[in-house]
Amino acid sequence: MKNPIARKVVIVGAGVSGLSAGTYACKAGFDVTILEMGHTPGGISTSWKRKGYTIEGGIHWLTGSSGLLPHNRMWKEVGALADNNPIILKDPLYTLIENGRRIPLYRNPAKMAETLIAIAPEDEKAIRKLEHQVRALEHFHAPRNFKEFICNILPALPVLPALMPLSIGQYLLQFKNASVRTLLGSFINPAQNAICLVYTLATFAVGDGGYPKGGSLVMSSNMERKFKSLGGQLLYGAEVSRIETANGKVIGVRYSKDQYIPADAVIVSADARTAIDSLFGQPLQDSWAQKMRSNMEVDQCLIFSMGVKADLSSYPKNMAFRLDSPFAYAGCSCDVMMLNAYSGEDFAPQGCTTLTWLLFGDMYEFWKQAKEDGSYKEKKQAITERIIELIKRHLPEVDGNIEFTDLATPITLERYCATYKGGFMSLWKPGEKPANAPVRHSRIKGLYFAGQRTGASGGLPVAVASGRKAVKCLCRDTKINFPK
Ligand SMILES: Cc1cc2nc3c(=O)[nH]c(=O)nc-3n(C[C@H](O)[C@H](O)[C@H](O)COP(=O)(O)OP(=O)(O)OC[C@H]3O[C@@H](n4cnc5c(N)ncnc54)[C@H](O)[C@@H]3O)c2cc1C
Repeated sequence: MKNPIARKVVIVGAGVSGLSAGTYACKAGFDVTILEMGHTPGGISTSWKRKGYTIEGGIHWLTGSSGLLPHNRMWKEVGALADNNPIILKDPLYTLIENGRRIPLYRNPAKMAETLIAIAPEDEKAIRKLEHQVRALEHFHAPRNFKEFICNILPALPVLPALMPLSIGQYLLQFKNASVRTLLGSFINPAQNAICLVYTLATFAVGDGGYPKGGSLVMSSNMERKFKSLGGQLLYGAEVSRIETANGKVIGVRYSKDQYIPADAVIVSADARTAIDSLFGQPLQDSWAQKMRSNMEVDQCLIFSMGVKADLSSYPKNMAFRLDSPFAYAGCSCDVMMLNAYSGEDFAPQGCTTLTWLLFGDMYEFWKQAKEDGSYKEKKQAITERIIELIKRHLPEVDGNIEFTDLATPITLERYCATYKGGFMSLWKPGEKPANAPVRHSRIKGLYFAGQRTGASGGLPVAVASGRKAVKCLCRDTKINFPK
């Protein structure tokens, strides 16, 4: 039932954070419209079809996929997890294949340690230390009370100072064994803070970090359904050009060239780093916005995918290969290839496989330049051909069986979702406190921020929590009970 005051809330963007904010705002009784420039829910957390194959271009693991972590409550509240997308928990998580040998990375920290020590006895001390650090971060989440502070935060405090100043790449240098370094460095951008690696392993260790069946688009479609079932309105193809204010207060939103919608409150769930420069007529000049301008670095990647008319089920689902020499692309390079193999009715025709590979690195300027000088397509093609050769070398079954390839760059993410420099997450730099955005604007009444840029280092848990947080703040400001 709508709140009798029926205050009008407009949300910019139908990504995970916007859908989350929309659902909580509807539950609180607001009259809610989400304006989305694209044509599907979920923003950059998405998947798409090519020739009967589904390409997963978003979720690789979902923090809070199980009831073992507190985020799960939010995923349930916003309708993201339902009967149509049960959670798949893979174990081993990743497997390094080299010289015919398979080295698995297991969820359980003790099993992980034993397997790694067996192949790298010289690293026993460092591996045991990693096991200890993983255990220490298993419940490292924002505490809701003193008891949770004691249980969740205290165990983490002794290990954080050693991790905080290091990038993942620097952290991994303590391992002498190249296979161990390669395996542990294969699934997150090595430029991220070392805490990201250990926290992720801790998420897996508690039995969380699963993958919802059907992937990103099923999950965000579930969220859209929930939002609409509560009376929310979602307009696609509605690009917001300006948030109008008068007398220090939000009054409405301009979208799709000449459309206008009055609003008592606006929640900006679009990329905050882009929004502060583009949605307010004049760029926002608050100190946090300035800090964000100077500090924000985004995690960028190439999303390579390929449809293969071959059954690759004899290989692990997530297989890493150490490369003989670094693979160079778009001004970046890597020495490991992590291929995700998707098969089954949700992802590929019978007997076929979709392969994906995320190649990380700071490459926005390279692609922007290529777009400007007209060489974008040609450069994409050249990298694609080299990737195909590399994959064929490691998976001979692929040869002659490629049905399509696809390469999304940061320019693709920028074009479809207006993310800052085409980033898919934020980079939490070693030793630095990341630039965050406040939930509520201090001087413009009725203006709130959600979205992954509001908290480091982004990702789905930040997105869903930020939508909730923005509405909680809005409820407090309007003296409306936040929905239990
Ligand atoms: C390849 C890939 C893999 C990933 N893997 C994981 C993972 O395994 N685990 C994890 O936790 N996270 C992962 N992420 C990150 C995660 O997907 C994002 O952190 C999250 O989806 C961000 O949600 P958001 O709502 O903050 O932003 P967005 O998804 O960017 O949503 C913003 C929305 O606003 C819209 N918009 C922008 N500007 C306007 C405008 N002017 N008018 C109207 N609409 C506008 C956009 O179109 C978009 O729909 C991955 C991302 C990618 C790309």
